Amino acid sequence: MTTKKYVYAFTEGDGKNKKLLGGKGANLCEMTQIGLNVPPGFVITTETCLTYLDNPQRILPPEVINEVKQHIQALEQTTKKGFGNPDNPLLVSVRSGSAISMPGMMDTILNLGLNSQTLQGLIKQTDNERFGYDAYRRFIQLFGKVALGVADEHFDKHLDAIKRRAAVKDDVSLSARDLKEVCALFLQVVQEKTGRPFPEDVFEQLEIAIKAVFNSWLGKRAIDYRRQFNITPEQANGTAVNVVAMVFGNMGNDSATGVGFTRNPGTGENQMYGEYLVNAQGEDVVAGIRTPKPVQDMANEMPALYAQLVELSHKLESHYHEVQDYEYTIEKGVLYCLQTRNGKMNATALVRTSVEMEKEGLISKEQALLRVNPEHLEQLLHPRLDPDSTTHAVAQGIPASPGAAVGKCVFDADQAELLGKSGEKIILVREETKPEDIHGFFAAQGILTSRGGKTSHAAVVARSMGKACVAGAENIHVDSKLRQAIIGDNVIQEGDIITIDGSTGKVYLGAIPTIPPKFSQELKILLGWADEIARLKVMANADTPEAANKAVEYGAMGIGLCRTERMFNAADRLPIVVEMILAQTPQERKTALDQLLPIQRADFTEIFKVLAPHPVTVRLLDPPMHEFLPTERELLDEIAHLRELYAISKGVEHLASASRFMRDREGGALKTIPAPFDSINANLVSDAISKKEQMLRKARELHEVNPMLGHRGVRLGITYPEIYAMQIRAIFEAIAVCQKDKVAVNVEIMVPQVATAQELTHVKKLIDGIRTQVEAEQNVTLQFKFGTMIEVVRACMRAGSLAELAEFFSFGTNDLTQATFSFSREDAENKFLPDYTNLGVLQDNPFEVLDVKGVGQLMAMTVERGRKTRPNMKIGICGEQGGHPESIRFCHYVGLDYVSCSAPRVPIARLAAAQAKLLEQKYQIEW
Ligand code: ADP
Ligand code: MG
Ligand code: MG
Repeated sequence: MTTKKYVYAFTEGDGKNKKLLGGKGANLCEMTQIGLNVPPGFVITTETCLTYLDNPQRILPPEVINEVKQHIQALEQTTKKGFGNPDNPLLVSVRSGSAISMPGMMDTILNLGLNSQTLQGLIKQTDNERFGYDAYRRFIQLFGKVALGVADEHFDKHLDAIKRRAAVKDDVSLSARDLKEVCALFLQVVQEKTGRPFPEDVFEQLEIAIKAVFNSWLGKRAIDYRRQFNITPEQANGTAVNVVAMVFGNMGNDSATGVGFTRNPGTGENQMYGEYLVNAQGEDVVAGIRTPKPVQDMANEMPALYAQLVELSHKLESHYHEVQDYEYTIEKGVLYCLQTRNGKMNATALVRTSVEMEKEGLISKEQALLRVNPEHLEQLLHPRLDPDSTTHAVAQGIPASPGAAVGKCVFDADQAELLGKSGEKIILVREETKPEDIHGFFAAQGILTSRGGKTSHAAVVARSMGKACVAGAENIHVDSKLRQAIIGDNVIQEGDIITIDGSTGKVYLGAIPTIPPKFSQELKILLGWADEIARLKVMANADTPEAANKAVEYGAMGIGLCRTERMFNAADRLPIVVEMILAQTPQERKTALDQLLPIQRADFTEIFKVLAPHPVTVRLLDPPMHEFLPTERELLDEIAHLRELYAISKGVEHLASASRFMRDREGGALKTIPAPFDSINANLVSDAISKKEQMLRKARELHEVNPMLGHRGVRLGITYPEIYAMQIRAIFEAIAVCQKDKVAVNVEIMVPQVATAQELTHVKKLIDGIRTQVEAEQNVTLQFKFGTMIEVVRACMRAGSLAELAEFFSFGTNDLTQATFSFSREDAENKFLPDYTNLGVLQDNPFEVLDVKGVGQLMAMTVERGRKTRPNMKIGICGEQGGHPESIRFCHYVGLDYVSCSAPRVPIARLAAAQAKLLEQKYQIEW
């Protein structure tokens, strides 16, 4: 039987084994082993945590306790102090740390090992009474809260009272006597609230603390966080406990504590970044209790230490090849590193550091591409404040997470969540935020705090979510009880709109106009690398010339889906489309279509020119006709209104003739009738009524029980060939114009809803006829490709035969998903899909994330059959899922040539396509 090892000293643990030691523990081991100055300590493994949590009695197995005791002994030897020794006490911190970093989500206890006796030893040894009581009161409160469940407020009220009595703002200004009194009050609080005295036995303290940290793994905060960031049990299984010898940043003015990033996590700039507080302990910086100083100040205040810090920062980066987020403490002039982890950055910083670190030789191009989560690029599409806006800021805080946000002020996280869910845009306004506010962050557009700095909780969390944050705006007085904030003379109530700019730290009243951001040079470089590596091409779905321009701006390599119905819907065209639908005879229909032809031709010509030489895939009309008519309900309402109007106009005519009659008799005694009534023409109204009635009849005639499965797509093209004929002619004439202008057009005509090869044959015949005519009329040879959507299950089964005529396939995965699941999308999303995903019946909404196992299998089969008939057949996807990174990975895997998505998702898809290529070896699916 192998004996299991539960505890590893920092000198022996494997720095690569985050799963076993947690991220914090593994890095503490690694830093120790590469010679950085880390206080000695040890890690209790995540496996121990799981064993502990599995046992319903929640006891630490005796083997664990034994190992812990052995390691404490070793610590005593290294530090030459004794745990519980009243003359020379060893104090430790007990810290959580899981495999995936979850900042602030679990608990840590500092200064453990203090009791009434060791306290005296600490005081004697340091010859600093104030320091001793300060450490003790911190320990009692933290241990009381984390391990014994006594809420902060019970402690804070005493601390605040004593601060008031001493007339000081910060706790650093309290004297030793004040703090001694605080300690006594705190001990009483624990006695009252728990019914027991505060534990004096240091091993008992340690055991309780270890259990409390293990338990915090199952705390609500931690569970919420894991759910929000989709952290699965396999990724982060339990938390380790790190027991670390204490070092003190609160030993006077040659002591300090700070946090830093090796590069600026807001901009990516390669500069020292961070904040520190002199004479303070770790938690103080993050908690925003005092507003800390920027690390640059240290260069003047403690130049020798600043130099050490710069060196630490370089060592960390060159060892980890990644931007590091680290914590340190300076005890009487000696710098200790207490933690490091990969820095969480916003997308701007990620992109910039990727490109710069590649140039510096720290990482390869491939690593640079894999560092950035494609979804995070979405942040770069966040708005900025319009620089032309002349509104003056009412407050200035610290720019803590860039981007502008406009929304209604909300003063607590619960309310934020409530309003956010109902679709309101909100700004969460707090004095400072705490980990338990996390749900409010998810709901908010931006976060504004009146206390704390760039590394405060609010700032760190907002940045990791890519939300705008202004922190430490000290001239704002936030009163969350009264639900208001006071800025100078302005009182802001809950619901009032404000604008914050996380890039400048400014706060404005009202809504300031925002403008979309431009691509940075670094993003262009990074996406350029992506395009070199990716096999998949990325196209955009774009229906109008404006959208085509946007698509090109975002780097689309063509248009994978140009929906012609969007062109029909514009205000100037819809009436003609309606005429076409109401037509009683083919001739009437043709008259309307003749009017549409030049409009479509002009649109196509422009789009083709914008995209040349890239491909544009034009889809012939797809939706059912009644989509262009108002609904039956709307028509009935309109008709009812028109009838009222008609009655009035008739009444007015009566009244008008009556009044003339009366005037004749009584010599103009009646008042004249108001002008608008005069001008209603009953005949016009009655014409409008009969038009609407005609539309109503048509709408009823076209009504379908299942419009999505009804008279649409190619079926419409076959029964009303005039419509497709007009569209085909418009496309051909546009190609002819471009060819004559020597524009390298690359056009593909795509037929929607195809189920059988016969449908394609039918449309192809129509195309060939028109082509011959246009070629003769224009004296050109038209260049184009002919292909089909694959969005009907039968088309997948018959792909081999469709490929005989079709030169390309494009998967319409919205319809194909509906057909595969037999879900109608709207009904599914409104009625049962949310339950399905919540209950885990489905992992994702298949309309957002491609259902690889079902729809994906049909796709794989289609690709295989299609290419059997036509090797090298071009195949792509134009459903909404085409912009989703996970779906893109699958599309790469299954051998597609391109994905097509909405224009703003194109950058995301380009990066995802490169990552799909880089990670293809790792991709596996089980069907
Ligand atoms: P979190 O994950 O919330 O950052 P940590 O375990 O890192 O929790 O600890 C909280 C704070 O206490 C940090 O600022 C850290 O630097 C500080 N700290 C932790 N252990 C020690 C120690 N042994 N000596 C001094 N400060 C410590
Ligand atoms: Mg930490
Ligand atoms: Mg479709």
